[in-house]
Amino acid sequence: METILLLTHADAGKPALEALAAAKELGGTLVIGLFGADVQAAANQMAGCGATKFLGVTGADFAQARYVSDAAAAEALVKVAQATIVIVPATSRMNRIVAGVAHRCGGRADTHVTGIAATSITRWYYRQRMEAAQSRAHRPWFIALDPGCHAPDASAPGTATVESVTITLPDLRTSVIGVKAPEASQQTIRPDAKVLLVAGAGWTKKQPDGQSHVPEAAELILGFLNATKASLGSSKSLVDLSGEGQAVLPFMSHLNQIGQTGATPRHLKGLSTCCHGEEPHAVGWRFITERRAINLDPNCGWARGKADVLYVADAFVVMRKVNSLLAEK
Ligand SMILES: Cc1cc2nc3c(=O)[nH]c(=O)nc-3n(C[C@H](O)[C@H](O)[C@H](O)COP(=O)(O)OP(=O)(O)OC[C@H]3O[C@@H](n4cnc5c(N)ncnc54)[C@H](O)[C@@H]3O)c2cc1C
Repeated sequence: METILLLTHADAGKPALEALAAAKELGGTLVIGLFGADVQAAANQMAGCGATKFLGVTGADFAQARYVSDAAAAEALVKVAQATIVIVPATSRMNRIVAGVAHRCGGRADTHVTGIAATSITRWYYRQRMEAAQSRAHRPWFIALDPGCHAPDASAPGTATVESVTITLPDLRTSVIGVKAPEASQQTIRPDAKVLLVAGAGWTKKQPDGQSHVPEAAELILGFLNATKASLGSSKSLVDLSGEGQAVLPFMSHLNQIGQTGATPRHLKGLSTCCHGEEPHAVGWRFITERRAINLDPNCGWARGKADVLYVADAFVVMRKVNSLLAEK
């Protein structure tokens, strides 16, 4: 029987609970391995999951992401657990160490996994154009499950007994002094939102009156985001406009770009506005369950089978009406 280790930093939140739910379905002996400044709260949240053991590496050195300390903690947890399959949530913190830790443990790693079954995993290739099912005989097998691909574990919380695993760290040459992130993305990228609003370059183009209406576009988009707490995506053309010095939406950065050369977000619903629906956009919508689009052009890419619903309409008019209905609510 496999020994399955759910391995994560303690503050991974929902992605860790999603990976836990996937790990449980494998049916082996389940062990939880956590590292962080303090792991008790995370362990308590998973207390009812049926794990045989909770292991923890704790201390101030594990509070922040840093390769040397995270990798050392993860390696120790895998070895103490004697895990044959290691499931990790594909947070940026785990993604950074999973290959190195697999190497140190003599294992193999598969990343960007979207589904896990008893004997195989699924993942996509060529920017979400082809799906493959793969399996490995080699152990330990490290599997990084992408966030948003599995319902999170909903076991009752309780009080978990955590066995402490102590490790001796090498000299730490890196100290983490904080996080710097673009303000725009902090306000508009919300991976947990139910709805993704995608804005295209059309918002900045000349409209039927011969003028562009960028400030109004910004107001309509932000109005919708504020009312719904939706996440904001963008086409490549729109985010590139800022680089060309044109009047653009100030809250938009390259981090908002979705598609073949951008992000592949996961939301229940997506609404594309003033965006043409080219193939490179559509591959970024692979994991959006329900896709809708508003475009003036009845012959746009969305009309050619890429959206479930296309509104052939002026997005300025539609979004103004949507926002006023939202305000009435
Ligand atoms: C190799 C490669 C990779 C690429 N990768 C990506 C990628 O990852 N992501 C990405 O986004 N693009 C990518 N692109 C670029 C992509 O092909 C498109 O050129 C670009 O994204 C088009 O952006 P857009 O639809 O916003 O703009 P446009 O093509 O200019 O379309 C604007 C649309 O707005 C509509 N519109 C205008 N006014 C209104 C209005 N009032 N109401 C409603 N609709 C209106 C117009 O009808 C038009 O359809 C890639 C291209 C290549 C070659």
